[in-house]
Amino acid sequence: MTAVQSITILGSTGSIGASTLDVIARNAGRFRVFALTANNNVDQLAKQCRRFSPKFAVMQDAEAAARLKSSLADTDTRVLAGSDGLEEVATHEEVDCVMAAIVGGIGLAPTYAAVRAGKKVLLANKEALVMAGSLFMQAVAESGCVLLPIDSEHNAMFQCLPVNAVGRFENEDGGGFARIVLTGSGGPFLHTDPARLAEVTPAQACAHPNWQMGQKISVDSATMVNKALELIEACFLFGLPESAIEIMIHPQSIVHSMVQYCDGSVLAQMGNPDMRTPISYCLAWPERIDAGVPALDLATIARLDFHVPDLARFPCLKLGREAIKTGGSAPVILNAANELAVAGFLAGAVRFDQIPAIIAATLDGQPVTGMATLEEVLAADAQARDTAARIIRKITRE
Ligand code: NAD
Ligand code: MG
Repeated sequence: MTAVQSITILGSTGSIGASTLDVIARNAGRFRVFALTANNNVDQLAKQCRRFSPKFAVMQDAEAAARLKSSLADTDTRVLAGSDGLEEVATHEEVDCVMAAIVGGIGLAPTYAAVRAGKKVLLANKEALVMAGSLFMQAVAESGCVLLPIDSEHNAMFQCLPVNAVGRFENEDGGGFARIVLTGSGGPFLHTDPARLAEVTPAQACAHPNWQMGQKISVDSATMVNKALELIEACFLFGLPESAIEIMIHPQSIVHSMVQYCDGSVLAQMGNPDMRTPISYCLAWPERIDAGVPALDLATIARLDFHVPDLARFPCLKLGREAIKTGGSAPVILNAANELAVAGFLAGAVRFDQIPAIIAATLDGQPVTGMATLEEVLAADAQARDTAARIIRKITRE
């Protein structure tokens, strides 16, 4: 009988958070929800707390925390607030496993704290690894924490690579490994006339053909900066140079990525595009549990297409490769500029086709620095956000 795992979900009200709770509910005997956290959605967090009875609930926003506290006054759930609260539930001695599913760079500090505390960390928050990859992987090695990738492509790579591949290739030969093929659907604008990208709305950008996701990652998928972030994520996660990773458009999102070996073998992980597959895989690893995902029906899908991406249509792919090759704070700058550009787009201030230009201009306008501590990462991030904000003000005035 497997011991019951005590779990903190950072970002439980989001798309990944909700899918995680769905898998937990299907496998109730194996997991206990220790803590749930959210930014400011009091109603949804209160509902989740009533259903899963966590010991702690954390709201980033203090005023929202006060409202949650009164809403849960008749329960045993203790309500905490702010970054200290997030860190407390990410590192608490009773916690075995932390699902890192906050969106954006704001998720870095509590995720890093969970790694340093030696927790089993399920990483959805790719921005954390993009920003602090070297530091993060060094902390993983030092604390001995188990780091499992939730991002579907990295989860696929993890399933197809030799065992214990996380952080491995930097120092060892890779067991016949040749290269990775990172697949991406190409998003909703794969065939849109580039001249029309100036007019697309947030609703159109968020209407992903295959995946139901939060707004930020949906826009990232439409610009394909998501694939650039994933390239960087894979480099850090497995200790690989960017040249070992090829990006391939695969519109059906059935093959979630592939690993090629020196003997000509190619291992692919396939499945319906449903994040409950990688989530359940990581929750139960090294076992497998029911995820509630329908069986893959290849006869109905009938065809799987692959082609190389058009870099003129998706300039963010080139920016991602350049950023990881440059190293230092370049990925931090790319990520920060993208977060601000996407927020501006969702708010109606920035045009969709301006997002890559804002990222490129921020990378040009911000010196790259080395980063040896979390404080240095956060300082580079803050500076890049200032630069990006200035560039956005200038672009949107024009
Ligand atoms: P989402 O927007 O649906 O949810 C984000 C969660 O983070 C919410 O619970 C929200 O309350 C919390 N949050 C937001 N801002 C916060 C703040 N300032 N402080 C504290 N908490 C805050 O996002 P999502 O789609 O679930 O994505 C979460 C992460 O997982 C992202 O990093 C994304 O790139 C990654 N990811 C998502 C998917 C997917 O299918 N949704 C797939 C792969 C990777
Ligand atoms: Mg992904």
